[in-house]
Amino acid sequence: MYDIIIIGSGPAGLTAAIYAKRAQFSVLVAEKDHMGTGQIAVTERVDNYPGLYGISGFDLGESFRKHAEELGAEFFNGEVTKIERDRKNWRVDFADGSAQTAKAIIYSAGTSYRRLGVNGDGKQRVSYCAVCDGAFYKDKTVAVIGGGDTALGDALYLSKLAKTVYLVHRRDEFRANKSLQKQVSGTANIVTIMSAVLTEVTGGTNAEGITYARNGETFSLAVDGVFAAVGSVPNSQLLNGICELDGSGYVAAGEDCRTSAEGLFAAGDVRTTTLRQVITAAADGANAAISAERYIDRSE
Ligand SMILES: Cc1cc2nc3c(=O)[nH]c(=O)nc-3n(C[C@H](O)[C@H](O)[C@H](O)COP(=O)(O)OP(=O)(O)OC[C@H]3O[C@@H](n4cnc5c(N)ncnc54)[C@H](O)[C@@H]3O)c2cc1C
Repeated sequence: MYDIIIIGSGPAGLTAAIYAKRAQFSVLVAEKDHMGTGQIAVTERVDNYPGLYGISGFDLGESFRKHAEELGAEFFNGEVTKIERDRKNWRVDFADGSAQTAKAIIYSAGTSYRRLGVNGDGKQRVSYCAVCDGAFYKDKTVAVIGGGDTALGDALYLSKLAKTVYLVHRRDEFRANKSLQKQVSGTANIVTIMSAVLTEVTGGTNAEGITYARNGETFSLAVDGVFAAVGSVPNSQLLNGICELDGSGYVAAGEDCRTSAEGLFAAGDVRTTTLRQVITAAADGANAAISAERYIDRSE
């Protein structure tokens, strides 16, 4: 049995592992993606993590993981399929049929992309990762759907590869930060289409166009690729019936990361919080490990 099993090795989980190992606990970090370090790994450049201005998301994630490894955290590559309270402890089941137990769980499974939810959103037609798939669209025409930081960041990234990037947003102003908005408006090959509600992605195996509605009229646009960046949903399905979730499915927990279930702590993007960034996820990981430490010490 481990002292703590951490579910998810993004910034929250890896920081929790660092703090838990420094407190001399036995720690298993379970991660479904091979050598995964969470969402930040696909970000080309991180400009807001203190002291590491301009680092690539991949390198930042790797340095978190290496730090946790050097302190002795153990890693298990596999998806967690079930969590349940087993008397005073917790049991964690994995997709390969194996299971482990722990005195406490730190749940840091992050979020997933929100689907577009329109006809044609499936198979190869829509990409949810500009950095992963952008290279296929060199000198082509693409559409990015969304208006937040991720959408504008994706549009800027794709503008360096594609001939034209249509940035399609359902509102009349962007939610993204002002710095990104300024960069987008200064980029000649990004064309913004505002107040446009996407209705369909058309094409065969690959996207060939989009249709959108604006002021009661329907418009079509021919594109070679469609990139979606319309927000995220919490990966909290495993916690249904186990602890309290908020109305949007995020885990209801305060800054100490304690959930409504004894010995279960939630950290990072999956927790109810106002800001979802690397720095807040890492801070949560630290708080969750300290809360778990206090819980284990109290229970013994
Ligand atoms: C495109 C993009 C750009 C971004 N840019 C920035 C930026 O510049 N600066 C910044 O501060 N933040 C940025 N962010 C946000 C930042 O990446 C997140 O806030 C941060 O990664 C959250 O960390 P986390 O550990 O909570 O979750 P995640 O990073 O999402 O990690 C969760 C991990 O849990 C794993 N997991 C999920 N379910 C299971 C399961 N059942 N079993 C096992 N493993 C599981 C996942 O595979 C994943 O590795 C960006 C995000 C995106 C998508």
